[in-house]
Amino acid sequence: MSGFRNDNRWHERDLMVATQIEARGIRSPTVLAAMREVPRHLFVPPGLQKDAYCDYPLPIGEGQTISQPFIVAAMVEALMLQPTHRVLEIGTGSGYQTAVLALLAQEVYSIERISRLAARAASTLASLGFLVEESLAEHASAPAHQLSGSEGNTHTDFLNRSGHIHLLVGDGYLGWPEHAPFDAIIMSAAPPEIPRVLYEQLAPGGRLVGPVGRFGSQILLRLIRTPEGPDFEALMDVAFVPMVRGVE
Ligand code: SAH
Repeated sequence: MSGFRNDNRWHERDLMVATQIEARGIRSPTVLAAMREVPRHLFVPPGLQKDAYCDYPLPIGEGQTISQPFIVAAMVEALMLQPTHRVLEIGTGSGYQTAVLALLAQEVYSIERISRLAARAASTLASLGFLVEESLAEHASAPAHQLSGSEGNTHTDFLNRSGHIHLLVGDGYLGWPEHAPFDAIIMSAAPPEIPRVLYEQLAPGGRLVGPVGRFGSQILLRLIRTPEGPDFEALMDVAFVPMVRGVE
């Protein structure tokens, strides 16, 4: 396949990035390029595709939502990713943010507790040409494809097109110890407090970004693992679905 930007909605993404994301202070050129690149409309249910580039979250089934584009950009920027990094994502959901991460890091390990969402995300990501490896008990592996470059889009040429995605149906409260430590961890659902297990799966200097607290009083936190312990920074008020234990 050729680059994503050959789809017919890239101009809406350029507008989304300019008016919703750059306008609110996101500056990382790689994050902005990844947000321009990933065809968000393919990650939402068919009836909602017309709204895919609007400034709000959308339902993705199973009572879950795909985050507002700005929130995805702000969280991913806060991870400070390098192309060699290994990232853990809790809450694959639609797989949209997983795709953004895979353009910025080398390995993305993503855990989803609802198997139907994980299976759908796996097929969307594979159909876009991402290298996807599934650890989905009930589902056969999707074929892995190599993503080819999008010739002529010089401003996106520095995106990493060989990032691997590893999907697991599991409980994110446990992290993914077999692949720890991670350079970065991103939570797309809100636990009442940061799970210690996740902090312990961060590499020294690693960043964990995610919402914490109950609905109505959540804050987005960045926590950096330092030799002296966690270094906390509150980024903004947010409203995320709760992080729930166990697998469905
Ligand atoms: N980043 C996603 C957002 C999905 S919403 C996207 O771009 O679409 C958050 C997701 O977290 C939901 O799919 C929910 O099922 C999942 N989730 C909640 N608790 C979880 C847990 N303990 N482990 C793994 N996933 C969890």
